[in-house]
Amino acid sequence: MKFVSTRGNTKNIGFIDAVLMGLANDGGLLVPEKIPQIPADKLKAMEQFTYQELAYEIISYYVDGEIPDNDLKNLIEKSYSTFRDPEVTPVKKVRDNMYVLELFHGPTFAFKDVALQFLGNLYAYISKTTGETINILGATSGDTGASAIEGVRGKEGIRICILHPDGKVSKVQELQMTTVYDKNVLNLAIRGTFDDGQRIIKEIFADLGFKDQYHLRAINSINFARILAQTVYYFYAYFQVAKGRGVKKVNFSVPTGNFGDIFAGYLAKRMGLPVDKLIVATNENNILETFIQDGVYKPGEFLSTYSPSMDIQVASNFERYLYYLVDENPNEVSAFMIQFKSEGKIVVGAEQLRQVKADFVAHGVIGKECLQTISKYYAETNYLLDPHTACGVAAYETCNKDGEVCVTLATAHPAKFNESIELCDIEQSFPEEISQLFDKPQYKEIIDADKDEIACLLKSFFSPSI
Ligand SMILES: *Cc1c(COP(=O)(O)O)cnc(C)c1O
Repeated sequence: MKFVSTRGNTKNIGFIDAVLMGLANDGGLLVPEKIPQIPADKLKAMEQFTYQELAYEIISYYVDGEIPDNDLKNLIEKSYSTFRDPEVTPVKKVRDNMYVLELFHGPTFAFKDVALQFLGNLYAYISKTTGETINILGATSGDTGASAIEGVRGKEGIRICILHPDGKVSKVQELQMTTVYDKNVLNLAIRGTFDDGQRIIKEIFADLGFKDQYHLRAINSINFARILAQTVYYFYAYFQVAKGRGVKKVNFSVPTGNFGDIFAGYLAKRMGLPVDKLIVATNENNILETFIQDGVYKPGEFLSTYSPSMDIQVASNFERYLYYLVDENPNEVSAFMIQFKSEGKIVVGAEQLRQVKADFVAHGVIGKECLQTISKYYAETNYLLDPHTACGVAAYETCNKDGEVCVTLATAHPAKFNESIELCDIEQSFPEEISQLFDKPQYKEIIDADKDEIACLLKSFFSPSI
């Protein structure tokens, strides 16, 4: 298994090098040279697997022997031992033909833990076996930061710096990040938006001299390992819903920001999982919805919503999908990205738009609809949705046809977003792990969204130790 860049200008590399490279050196994103195909009899056998067994099976296709089998098994066991549910990502039936996949039973109560517990342990493993220095730099709209910090705090040989938009994350998200006092953790709260943070880190990663000198590693979903770990739960959910019920195909509704999670679903489908519709659920930051309707991808003005982790205009994983849309032709991807840089938008042709519509359906959820969905499901089913999951459920209601079975990804626990839950006049009780955060001191530095200033701080934080 080799990995190539969507823009075609990197050498083919193996799994570990792809993890370490993060963003491809030519500015593109790394993708598998060939998507592995899982035959039907293998899929049948996988129905019975535990989450960890499934993870091992799927991840192995991509690791392709670069990590000895037993080490990989241990890594996976360790990563999911921190989850509070023995099933790791249990599926709950909410109504007939309507399920939610609970992805929030990890340490920070959001789906990001599924991939970042794995990636944290993977980095520690690489550092230990190869002596690589691991200095992690990431931007977050709230959940990735908390989850990545939790994944590597206190781990030897690893340092982590996370940029978050000051005042634009929920209280619990902020506390989860900034109450960690470990010497290897630096929180920078930037005056700006998530898009500013993401742009700055992409610029820093694009400075190859700097990236090499300071051994910068990525934890954002530009890192293929994250996408890979997330494909696992599509398989798991499919089996839980389909096996023994005569269900052939399943729809997935996915609350979407950076196009990472939904891309993992697309990849699972391309590997042979019988997925029918992939429903892209957005909030008012709905450029992806517009793209799927009209074929025009054009980021606009940033809007703060009830689902802050999806407040993203520039979806960095979108380029991975474009690559497959143009039949894996890196020249066409590069041309699109040049167009994007010069005109601020990407426009696909009529034939391509037909393909987009065959791959995805979409619904942009406005704030009122999000809150109404939370209230309605709480009243009618006693299930409390977090505002991101509520966007997914609202999109399911719009896009799912009668008789189709749909799994909505529950991307966060409602306790992380009490600001929105309170607006629905619902009082929730907090899990102990969350309520105790409110008594802890916070550590963060507030700075301008300025690349040079940030690079300067990184130099001292990441400076090679003796
Ligand atoms: C990150 C996040 C999303 C969006 O996921 P992407 O992979 O960026 O599309 C949705 N919901 C929650 C709670 C998140 O933390």
